[in-house]
Amino acid sequence: MLPSMRVDGQVAVVTGAGRGIGAGCALALAEAGAEVVAMSRTSSEIDAVVASITAGGGSARAITCDVTDTEAMQSAFADLDRVDILVNNAGTAVGSSLLDVEPDALDAMLSLNCRAAVLVAQAAARIMNGTGGGVIINLSSTFGKNGRPNNSIYSATKHFVEGFTKSIAVELAASGIRVVAVGPTAIDTPLTHDRLHDPDIGGDLLARIPMGRFGQIQDVVGAVVFLASPAASLITGTTLMVDGGWTAQ
Ligand code: NAD
Repeated sequence: MLPSMRVDGQVAVVTGAGRGIGAGCALALAEAGAEVVAMSRTSSEIDAVVASITAGGGSARAITCDVTDTEAMQSAFADLDRVDILVNNAGTAVGSSLLDVEPDALDAMLSLNCRAAVLVAQAAARIMNGTGGGVIINLSSTFGKNGRPNNSIYSATKHFVEGFTKSIAVELAASGIRVVAVGPTAIDTPLTHDRLHDPDIGGDLLARIPMGRFGQIQDVVGAVVFLASPAASLITGTTLMVDGGWTAQ
């Protein structure tokens, strides 16, 4: 009766798989049986993730690709026969007040968190559409549900991810493609480590998490593997929050 949370033999593309949440997802999906395609900008990082998976008996390969380079990203997907699982994870955050936000930081967040997230999902969905289905897992955030002062652009990009997830979930349901999001609270990764350990920023974030702790990468990857698996086969168009109760308030 217990549905399977294994994804044996399924091809799982993880963007931003070189470190942080993406690396954790790549390792966990491989442990759950997936053939992982680790896609990220920095070869040395994804090579290390792939080496760790293969050393443990799993299956993985690395594709070095900046997903904001549309042509390079589309040509990377063109080499794939199947994509059963996409973890649309590559993302960035540059904190700033509205009064101080730099146009370059605005462009970087819109280009990666919104534009590339759409075009990567499109590239994967086109393959899934021809092979009978799949699942797209987008990385949202607590800031995709709530506003966040001094992080308004990042928060807006994650609200974009929320609307995009719901809309394409409805659009692609008949093609057997599920689309979901995961909404982590502050997770200790290379992207956030310094800010979480800054008493002003980290203290304020911690005070908003009823469970009283920051997340670890492990807290997120379980949700991702579950959503990718047959156990989640009727789940689409929603965000699974991994936020210690932040957005329940
Ligand atoms: P991170 O900076 O630690 O890792 C990001 C990975 O993406 C790196 O491997 C990096 O090389 C890769 N990457 C960055 N730009 C890329 C590009 N243009 N093309 C290809 N790869 C690229 O980040 P993280 O903290 O693991 O965050 C991952 C995702 O989770 C992001 O979408 C982020 O917004 C989201 N998220 C993070 C947190 C958190 O607290 N860490 C909370 C909520 C949501």
